[in-house]
Amino acid sequence: MSALLRAEGLWKSFAGRPVLRGVDLTLDAHEVVALIGSSGSGKSTLLRCLNLLEPIDDGRIVLGDEDISDPRIDANRIRSRLGIVFQSYNLFPHLSVLDNVALASRVVRRMPRADADARGLALLDRVGLADKAKEHPDRLSGGQQQRAAIARAIATEPEVLLLDEITSALDPELVGEVLELVRDLAHEGTTILMATHEMAFARDVAHRVAFLDGGTIVEEGPPGAIFSAPREERTRAFLTRFT
Ligand code: ADP
Ligand code: MG
Repeated sequence: MSALLRAEGLWKSFAGRPVLRGVDLTLDAHEVVALIGSSGSGKSTLLRCLNLLEPIDDGRIVLGDEDISDPRIDANRIRSRLGIVFQSYNLFPHLSVLDNVALASRVVRRMPRADADARGLALLDRVGLADKAKEHPDRLSGGQQQRAAIARAIATEPEVLLLDEITSALDPELVGEVLELVRDLAHEGTTILMATHEMAFARDVAHRVAFLDGGTIVEEGPPGAIFSAPREERTRAFLTRFT
């Protein structure tokens, strides 16, 4: 079976310092993969490279049957196929919640405003925020903002959803509502690659866990195996800090 998203030998340096040193990672359709690793290990860099927000120095990224790391590729077109949500809510502050969500449909899908708004409202309803459509983001709690950011990310019906520690900046009491939404999307078959420190959630929801350390995927496998019986000493050392 061919992977939906495949990173092959990704290298990425900042100011001559390699952060990714030949990362290989695949994601099958409908698969949920948790990307774990210490702070600074390169999780965000990897997700940003996959989404073409950062150019890679070497390697290849294949989405479907398309080499999206080809420099001639239209990055905006690809980004609509790979939705991303970041750690801190990055909704446009001057737009209503509905406009935040509907904008993608209007710009990327070239939908007329009325259709985009109807779709945006349906998405907000999906994430439990229909009553917040007219509000500006700063009127929402952090958890609501992240749910709106997820609604925006899925508005273009991306093939893959990239989630970068989307609950890390939230007050603890708001984490659950966002994870519940991710769990629902996972159960609906959404293909998800999520960088996370929520180990219990990863164990519960991910089909596969990949541990990033020293610029490579050191170990990957089903959550049960990674969390209960990691093969690599580095994985074990990392996990003991979380339990
Ligand atoms: P993680 O998400 O796992 O915490 P990051 O991908 O954010 O790790 O960062 C990995 C390393 O790359 C860190 O040392 C970070 O300082 C560095 N880094 C990330 N982005 C940049 C950038 N735009 N410029 C310079 N260094 C960066
Ligand atoms: Mg990060």
